[in-house]
Amino acid sequence: MSTAFAERARAAIGNHQLHVALDRTTAQLGLRRSAGLESLDRFDDVRTLARRAKMELLGHLGDSLQQFERRLVDNGADVHWADTGDAANQIIVDIARRRGVRRVAKAKSMASEETHLNGALADAGFEVIETDLGEYIVQLAGDRPSHIIAPIIHMTREQVGRLMHDRLNVPYTDDVQVLAGYARERLREEFLRADMGVTGANFGVVETGTICLVTNEGNARMVTTLPRIHVVLMGIEKLVPTMADLDRFLKLLARSATGQKLTAYTALIRGPRRAGDDCGPDEMHVVLLDNGRTKILAGETAEILGCIRCGACLNVCPVYRSIGGHAYGDVYPGPVGAIVTPGLRGLDRHAELPGASTLCAACRDVCPVRLDIPRMLLALRRRAVEETSQPFELRVGIKTFARIATRPRLYRTVTTLARRILRRRATNGWITRAPGLAAAWTQSRDLKAPAEQTFEQQWRARAAARRTR
Ligand code: SF4
Repeated sequence: MSTAFAERARAAIGNHQLHVALDRTTAQLGLRRSAGLESLDRFDDVRTLARRAKMELLGHLGDSLQQFERRLVDNGADVHWADTGDAANQIIVDIARRRGVRRVAKAKSMASEETHLNGALADAGFEVIETDLGEYIVQLAGDRPSHIIAPIIHMTREQVGRLMHDRLNVPYTDDVQVLAGYARERLREEFLRADMGVTGANFGVVETGTICLVTNEGNARMVTTLPRIHVVLMGIEKLVPTMADLDRFLKLLARSATGQKLTAYTALIRGPRRAGDDCGPDEMHVVLLDNGRTKILAGETAEILGCIRCGACLNVCPVYRSIGGHAYGDVYPGPVGAIVTPGLRGLDRHAELPGASTLCAACRDVCPVRLDIPRMLLALRRRAVEETSQPFELRVGIKTFARIATRPRLYRTVTTLARRILRRRATNGWITRAPGLAAAWTQSRDLKAPAEQTFEQQWRARAAARRTR
């Protein structure tokens, strides 16, 4: 492979520090998830109900969105529709300009990463500060998040300590509590100085027009109540039908993401401040973002719009655990990103991503919404072959294989020959340098020597032995 993805993946595989950081956090999150599931009775039933609700809603998403808009307007919010990421950014820049905003405080939002909102606001002359600890560190580093719920999973605490020392002029430490204290001190001022708060939405409840936001740091609560304007930028797929459904999704999200029964801060927002309220913004705007989602909805991977961004599939994916999030080249990494990114940005630009999977199906097993990720990856692989030009070697290789595999006698001859050559090269059952086309395999791992007899030969031999008994 010589694609951009392959190059990024190769670089990531050789990055020892990245592996230390990835191993620490993915293993920990996996263990917490397993422990968290034990605290939920009938976990599988809850998953089934949640999936059913989400899939039914996606089946009539247009109607649900209209109902959601009506509820939001009734609650006093302004609703805006954005076909593209640029359109969403422009809407938010325009609101900020009209209202004389100077500083914007943001809580974590994947949608704003997707539209590159920070850059658009900065280009328009606004000061933007991320208030989620991980996102704040990403911003300080001029970097990009590399995990859905743990944006700095690629950094060790020692790296964070050095970064804060360099950028904030504080004494170096790798003590996580002290580092969090440094950030907290600075962010506190930013909450008070901001004129506009921007958040995403974990869920939007159609029944009531409620925006639900979950964080473990409480920063979303500050961002949505202290500035005079609150803007929500959310993908149109984030809806759930009712508050009862929201209850199920919250249980699944917290356990699947971090193993908690409930995320520490769960905010339910229904419009701007009303007469008699102690706090809250004067205005609330909700920007509903399409940016390719309706295209996904119309295709074979529509199911992926049910994703609740828990990150569990990343933590179990052997590919993600080897290369981290940046290698995927866009906002959404891991198995979910391998489906969402080609859907949003175009399969022609990301045709290699569906191939970034062993199809072991661990992602499907852990997904709280039971999304059939392997099926969708295979569908995209098929489309990639049909719609994009494949490398010459691959085309010739597949055609040759098809010719051999459909002629049993030729197949047996070729595989017998290949087996002999490989067995001759093996030492203690392993081949460290394979010849010809197989050489790429042994560049980064050893190859198990083939058995003396094929499966078919062993099968026939055993069947013959049984008959003579
Ligand atoms: S695909 Fe499933 S497991 Fe992966 S982030 Fe989405 S909801 Fe979680």
